[in-house]
Amino acid sequence: MKVMGFSQHGNYEVIKEFTIDDPKVSDLDVLIKIEMTSINTLDIMTRNGIPGFNFNLPHVPGSDVIGKIEAVGKNVKDFSIGDKVIVNTVYGCGKCYQCKSGYEAQCPLWQCLGLHVNGSYSELISVPHSSVSKVPAGFSDEELSAMPLHVPLAWRNIKKLAKAREGESILIRGASGNVGIFAILFSLALKLNVIALSGSPEKESKLKKLGKITVLSSNKSATELNKEILDITNGKGVDIILESFGSTLGNSVDLAAYNARIVSFGVLTGAESSLNVRKLYLKNISIFGTHNASKQEFDEALEFVSKNNIHPIINSSYNIKDASKAQSIFEKHEIFGKIILKNRF
Ligand SMILES: [Zn+2]
Repeated sequence: MKVMGFSQHGNYEVIKEFTIDDPKVSDLDVLIKIEMTSINTLDIMTRNGIPGFNFNLPHVPGSDVIGKIEAVGKNVKDFSIGDKVIVNTVYGCGKCYQCKSGYEAQCPLWQCLGLHVNGSYSELISVPHSSVSKVPAGFSDEELSAMPLHVPLAWRNIKKLAKAREGESILIRGASGNVGIFAILFSLALKLNVIALSGSPEKESKLKKLGKITVLSSNKSATELNKEILDITNGKGVDIILESFGSTLGNSVDLAAYNARIVSFGVLTGAESSLNVRKLYLKNISIFGTHNASKQEFDEALEFVSKNNIHPIINSSYNIKDASKAQSIFEKHEIFGKIILKNRF
């Protein structure tokens, strides 16, 4: 089959077309002919190389899969050839304690499409049937292909872990990135008071068009920003903080209200942060660490976007053969919304 991938790490120019063997289909797998995927930061990280992580080269990036079932393993009963499906990005061994408890992302043998195994910049992909769902109605293919990695994460962070309640405040760092945009859309549907932090003046007006939210520039000094956020919350602090930056965790503890929930799911600005433990326990703050969502959360998230008519923001679409160019545009950080790749080789 044809794929777009890389045989050495480097900049976007290393993305080339290759031919590799078609994937094997085990008894519990489904083979999917991929129709579309979308670009995520993970694609750039894998292409650049991740310190301490050994890739089997050539490697095929891409985590989002929308397509049609091409073949099913002999023990698969819940899907038929031709079914249109969407795939949860992560799956586990299916046998261990974590998998059986519904926490596949915490399986010691967890697999993430486009990271541990070849991903979606390809004609075909074979995945366990347990990680696959039929697509929800009411969305374009482009919108569907923007969902698999980010939609369940937004759901898990805001609803499952932080247990957001109507009227609470939520602070979203990196709000103009794709995870941030989904988090804003989810928060508006849950009637939360959104404070969105963005480092891009050009994107602030675009963020404001998403709904009634407060947008602040993260380029201000920490002192100035802290004062603004405390003023907005009448001195109370923020109920929920989405912490994808890492190095700002200590600042999030400073900004948190009594009984606040902080969800840490990234280290975009650094993996080290010092925090005031006294504030942490005196304010009864909960800090959650998380990465990907379970299959159950994936399905709950899809149901939520469907019921609440939440549609991803699409920036642009490219043919998969232009994946190199599309990644170069993605990396300039000037885009707002998802870049879609159409798998037409
Ligand atoms: Zn497992």
